[in-house]
Amino acid sequence: MTDIAVRTLQILDRLGVGDPFEPGGELVSRSPIDGSELGRLRPHSPAEAAEVIGRAHAAFEQWRVVPAPVRGQFVRELGGLLREHKDDLGALVSIEAGKIVSEGLGEVQEMIDICDLALGLSRQLHGLTIATERPGHRMMEQWHPLGVVGVISAFNFPVAVWSWNAALAFVCGDAVVWKPSEKTVLTALACQALATEAARRAGVPEGLSAVLVGDRAVGEVLVDDPRVQLVSATGSTRMGKEVAPRVAARLGRSLLELGGNNAAIIAPSADLDLAVRGIVFSAVGTAGQRCTSLRRIIVHESIKDDLVARLTAAYETLSIGSPLEASTLVGPLIDQPAFEAFGAAVAQAEADGGKLVTGGEQVDVEGGGFYVRPAIVDMPAQTDVVKAETFAPVLYVLTYRDFTDALTLHNDVAQGLSSAIFTLDVREAELFMSVVGSDCGIANVNIGTSGAEIGGAFGGEKETGGGRESGSDAWRSYMRRSTNTINYSTELPLAQGVEFG
Ligand code: NAD
Repeated sequence: MTDIAVRTLQILDRLGVGDPFEPGGELVSRSPIDGSELGRLRPHSPAEAAEVIGRAHAAFEQWRVVPAPVRGQFVRELGGLLREHKDDLGALVSIEAGKIVSEGLGEVQEMIDICDLALGLSRQLHGLTIATERPGHRMMEQWHPLGVVGVISAFNFPVAVWSWNAALAFVCGDAVVWKPSEKTVLTALACQALATEAARRAGVPEGLSAVLVGDRAVGEVLVDDPRVQLVSATGSTRMGKEVAPRVAARLGRSLLELGGNNAAIIAPSADLDLAVRGIVFSAVGTAGQRCTSLRRIIVHESIKDDLVARLTAAYETLSIGSPLEASTLVGPLIDQPAFEAFGAAVAQAEADGGKLVTGGEQVDVEGGGFYVRPAIVDMPAQTDVVKAETFAPVLYVLTYRDFTDALTLHNDVAQGLSSAIFTLDVREAELFMSVVGSDCGIANVNIGTSGAEIGGAFGGEKETGGGRESGSDAWRSYMRRSTNTINYSTELPLAQGVEFG
């Protein structure tokens, strides 16, 4: 057993997860750091998955009548346990997803933050009172718990995405059945162990929070089960295009958080020191494996050479290696297919006339794993490879002369998640955020595309799926609205002046 595998067992033990090597386990968890086998889990069969959903539904029926502020205590307990176990859970994220230590811890901090938000929200779930045209009447809306929420998540945010959904869903009175990525099952089991302990402390009905182990076949059970009122699915656009019609076919609700192809416009007035820092973090953080990773820069021709030279210099100092080393900034890609996709994208970009400015090669790291030097490719045009999301650190450079052309290039992709502009020109900044500017769900000024806070609604348009999670009024997706009209008069006036009898 490797050192990483031994350390994983110790962490799992402290987090209250049982032996990850189950008899007959076919689903193998591997660390992208060095390929170490971390566990072998037995996937749920479709029949077992249906039973889990049934138990969650029964738990929901009890949970929905618990007052929301009391439900908040469950999330408070969960937040407390996450604080207590932050180092272990963060390390597990690094081991199983390959994130550097700081990003692994950051992901757990995001979970803590959303628990705080959800706890406050548990006293603020509110509807409107609306003016009615009828005398002696009152019209209002209430928000009621929805039911079982099915969460399908991607490997690259193996714990935070669940918490964005689960913390809100729990205070909204729902049950949550989670089908995590088959590449990051252990982190999911660790979250579930903490949720189980929090549920015990808060007296929550058994089965309210559950994890389904398996690949897409198990995900499909969630997608098709009519007891699952909302399917919140995070992953590739390909997955979303498969999931959405199936949920729609049973007239269920879906909340989709899919792929991005995020760009930043760098205007002539930009503070280039700031821009370089923002670009590098967004483009190479998590080795380019964030949905919000920066994949395209659209730079004014007058500053292109300067910017590319500065970026190249910054890229050449990047430390690439085990994410467990404190000095590392770029960890591994998740697996071999991701590595091959990286190589294929760079090769295609060159075949399209692009010039590889820096990076693009494999980096040997002791112990194995798929490590690469992040690439910058100067493109003559926005070709098909630039328009596709390659989930790896490839940054394409495009050039513009007129600002309107920059906006056109920016929006001329199928995805619409995150975007940024670096400018000191207030007109450009406002235009970028206006209706004729960025068509993304997130539009930032003088900040990179990644690293959103939980207070805002998170999500994107077009092929990113249109869903919104996390802050603002995203909680409404996890509830159903009831409009109530109450007559406290002795008359029965009809709306629109209709007379009847
Ligand atoms: P993926 O689509 O391969 O898998 C995501 C999840 O969907 C996994 O749990 C998988 O088992 C499940 N799945 C796949 N096909 C399914 C089907 N037909 N029915 C039911 N479940 C199915 O994605 P990935 O490689 O794990 O993650 C990377 C992708 O996720 C990127 O495209 C990235 O942009 C996207 N992502 C988006 C967001 C966002 O908030 N918009 C966040 C994180 C990741």
